[in-house]
Amino acid sequence: MLFILCNGIHCAYGQDSLPTIVAQKGDGILSLLRKQGVNPHEAYDDFIALNMDNLRDSVHLYEGRSYKIPQLPMDTVAVVDSIQKQSTKIKEIKGKEYSIFGKKYALVLPKSECLKETVYYLVSGHGGPDPGAMAMYRGKSIAEDEYAYDITLRLARELIAHGAKVHIIIRDPDDGIRDDRILEIDRDEVNYPKETIPLNQVARLKQRVEAVNQLYLKNKGKYQRLIVTHVDSRSKGQNIDVFFYHHEKSKNGKKLAESIHKTFQAKYKKFQPNRTYSGTFGDRTSLYMVKKTHPAMAYIEIGNIRNKKDQRRILDPDNRQALAKWISEGILLDYEGE
Ligand SMILES: [Zn+2]
Repeated sequence: MLFILCNGIHCAYGQDSLPTIVAQKGDGILSLLRKQGVNPHEAYDDFIALNMDNLRDSVHLYEGRSYKIPQLPMDTVAVVDSIQKQSTKIKEIKGKEYSIFGKKYALVLPKSECLKETVYYLVSGHGGPDPGAMAMYRGKSIAEDEYAYDITLRLARELIAHGAKVHIIIRDPDDGIRDDRILEIDRDEVNYPKETIPLNQVARLKQRVEAVNQLYLKNKGKYQRLIVTHVDSRSKGQNIDVFFYHHEKSKNGKKLAESIHKTFQAKYKKFQPNRTYSGTFGDRTSLYMVKKTHPAMAYIEIGNIRNKKDQRRILDPDNRQALAKWISEGILLDYEGE
């Protein structure tokens, strides 16, 4: 219930008086919202909730059908109550800029203070000289690290909007959040704060483990969690969408992974009733990152970039946004349950 309160800010509009718009050829949810002057990422979930019956796979528009557009405050709007006689507080929505998200997404508007006391470490798999799993898509090479990074940035932005302190451990100085299907491969990612990532696998993992553990010491006493994201699940031949792991001995890690898992199950049920969600949830102490890091953690494998079916899901920027949003909601659920 608390969780719903957190998102209550989105519920302050009447549904009947909402404007509608007909989807044109080539329209996606993000572009449709943008054309209406609505911040697509703030309005994304509301849009899906309002138009659920009219979406294919819960994220695709049908050309020629009309869609309700949720109304949210504009990007830089200041809400000022002009009648100051009333004891209503004057509330100004002030965003903060984070250049790591790229120009288009740098401004983050607060959504709630639900995660005010929390610290999150986000590690996207691979990076630097190591692209992770690779595949060909329409004659172009695509690499796991770029997609894991994009989802991680979107997740970071969500958590910050809810008041969390977020440390993005693998960082790209110039990529930002990208709304493209093909994410260009580069090698310029660095490890927090600005260290070159070594090629050697053990050295590479050790470097990110140390960055997390050092920050963890500095923040001792605070609520701290770690999320690791990969797109190269090893489920050969299995039809599993997302894997969640935790350290077998970590109660908090288990609860975190479980909360995100539960959120995914609920979302599939709500938005994709025709598709059965298959995710597994389990401990995986054998993974270096799971074993060596100090904060309670969830290790998430969002399908596999080499799998054709998964590619459909991961290459679509709308889907990456939805996945990041779902993970963030699982994280909120986990923290509210504290
Ligand atoms: Zn990986």
